Amino acid sequence: MAGIQLKQVTKRWGDFVGVEAFDLDIADREFLVLLGPSGCGKTTTMRMIAGLEDPTSGDIVIDGRRVNDLDPKDRDVAMVFQSYGLYPNMNVWENIRFPLKVRKVPEAEHEARVQRAAEMVELVPFLDRKPAALSGGQRQRVALARAIVRTPKVFLMDEPLSNLDAKLRVSTRAQIKNLSHELQVTTIYVTHDQIEAMTLADRVVVMKQGVVQQVGTPTDIYDNPANTFVAGFIGSPAMNLMEGEVVDGTFHAAGVEIPGFEGVKGPVVCGFRAEDAGLAEDGAGEVQAPVYSMELLGDSTMVTMRAGGALLAVKAPKEFRTHIRAPFSAHVPAAICHLFDAKSGERLA
Ligand code: ATP
Repeated sequence: MAGIQLKQVTKRWGDFVGVEAFDLDIADREFLVLLGPSGCGKTTTMRMIAGLEDPTSGDIVIDGRRVNDLDPKDRDVAMVFQSYGLYPNMNVWENIRFPLKVRKVPEAEHEARVQRAAEMVELVPFLDRKPAALSGGQRQRVALARAIVRTPKVFLMDEPLSNLDAKLRVSTRAQIKNLSHELQVTTIYVTHDQIEAMTLADRVVVMKQGVVQQVGTPTDIYDNPANTFVAGFIGSPAMNLMEGEVVDGTFHAAGVEIPGFEGVKGPVVCGFRAEDAGLAEDGAGEVQAPVYSMELLGDSTMVTMRAGGALLAVKAPKEFRTHIRAPFSAHVPAAICHLFDAKSGERLA
C-alpha cells in the first residue's frame, strides 16, 4: 500500500511562489496526472515528492510515513525523466540492471528480473546495444524498464513522452497505461499535454502558476470545468469561450443570441464545445458568423467562425464544405453551454 498525502506543500524561492499550498490525497495504485502549462509548478511538485527539492513548508507523506527528511534513495520512488538519463557506456542490459545493483538486490536475481522488465517493454532484442545505437523510443523504453525492474512504492514520470514523435508517443502512451495497470504501482505523471492526461489518468490535477485549479477524473474535468482556465485547457479543440451578457434570460454577444438562461443576469462568459454544437441546417442557429477557417478531419469537418473578437469552432458533418468568409449558422442551445463568472472566471452553478 503506498498512498501519498500532500499537506499544504509550498515551494518558494524568495518572493516567487513555485507551488502554493498543494493539498491532495493520492490513493494507493492511483494513476495521477499533473497537468498545466509550462512553469505552472508540475516538475517542482514531483521533485519535492522524490526528495530532489525541499518544500518551503508543508508535509509529504508516502505510505503513512512523513518523508520530508528522507533522502531520495530512501523514499522508494522510481523516476522516469524526459531526458532518459541512461548511462552511455553501459549497454541496455546493464542500464536496466543498475537499480538492482545500487539497491544490493542479490546477484542471482538480476538476470531474471532484467529479462522480465525488458520483455514488458519489448527490448529483448536490444539488450547488448549501447544507448547511442538506439532510437529515441527505444531509449525511452530502457528508462521505463529501469524504473520497473524493481517494484518501487511510487513511479514518478516527468514528461516521459515529450521527445518522441507523434506516432511513437501514442504507442508508448498505451504501453505506459498497460504497465501501470499490470504493476499496480501508484504513479504520478507530469505533462502539459491534455490528451495524455485524459487518456492515462484516474484523476487529473490541473495547475496554473503554482496553484491547483481543479482535481477530478478526466470526465469530471471535461464535463464540468471549474473555471475558464480549465475549460480553455482541456479538450481538442479547447472549449469555445464567449464574453457577453445575459438580458431577460438570453445570452448576447456579437453574432450570438442564446435563450434559456432564466435566473442569470449581467456579464458572463459562456462556453461550449465544438463537438456539442453543430451546423444549423435551417440557418436559424443561435450563433451566426462568417467562416474563419475550415479543416477536414476525416470523421468530421471543423468549422471555425469569427464572431466579434471570438473564434468559435463547431464540428460539422464530414461531407460539409464551405469557404472562408461564407456565412455560417451554428446550433448552440443553452443546454450545451457552460456559464462562468465574467470577473473571476469561476463556474456558475
Ligand atoms: P515545464 O512544463 O516547463 O517543465 P513546470 O510546470 O514543470 O514547467 P516547474 O519546473 O515546476 O514548472 O517550475 C515552476 C516555476 O518555478 C517556474 O516559473 C520556474 O521558473 C520556477 N523555478 C523552478 N526552479 C526554480 C529555482 N531553482 N529557482 C527559482 N525559480 C525556480
